[in-house]
Amino acid sequence: VLDEIEQYIHQHTASLGELFDALAEETRETLPLPQMQVGRVEGQLLRMLIQLSGAARVLEIGTYSGYSALAMASALPAEGHLITCDIDPVATQVAQRYFDKAPWGSKIELRLGPAVDTMRDLVRAERRFDLVFIDADKTNYSNYFDAAMDLIPVGGLIVVDNALWSGAVLAPDSEDATAIAQLNEKIASDPRVEQVLLSVRDGIHLARKVR
Ligand code: SAH
Ligand code: CA
Repeated sequence: VLDEIEQYIHQHTASLGELFDALAEETRETLPLPQMQVGRVEGQLLRMLIQLSGAARVLEIGTYSGYSALAMASALPAEGHLITCDIDPVATQVAQRYFDKAPWGSKIELRLGPAVDTMRDLVRAERRFDLVFIDADKTNYSNYFDAAMDLIPVGGLIVVDNALWSGAVLAPDSEDATAIAQLNEKIASDPRVEQVLLSVRDGIHLARKVR
């Protein structure tokens, strides 16, 4: 039943365009773990979050082959900018090739290296972001959330992907599941944010900094 409803949701959500479908297909055919890309439904949701919030400066943690970066960047205003980081030179080569194909791709800046280092550099440079999308290694999720809180102003939004980890957060049986479950609790009890944990796809935790 769950698979069927996921299929129904996919069928009743518009494609983001040919470029996205081509990227999804190339990823499935040439890269390991293609299910990691956010896909159509979450891609559309991210795009809508950017549009609704009016975010112009976006930071992404976890590029992979670029689907989510491309989706978010497509909704940025003319002066908008998105920095995305990853440690995988192979997947990000695919990403960069698709960024180069998209008319809005020049808004995307790819930084190769551990995200903790990239975020520390951005904090030191006093860079500011309206929206941070966290989607890299789960054991660092709490570190990414802390750094993101330093990088967004009051009103900024943090979006945490895979917040349900296929349901494993109910009874964490791995380091990844434990890390995600701990971050969910931390966010839910953080007085600096207003938040909602969504069951979209693999779970998306939204946290808006209010103080
Ligand atoms: N948002 C992407 C999917 C990201 S998958 C999309 O929609 O397509 C998670 C990515 O996190 C992988 O590409 C992996 O290489 C990257 N990653 C893992 N550890 C990392 C680290 N320490 N720093 C930065 N990226 C990391
Ligand atoms: Ca993900």
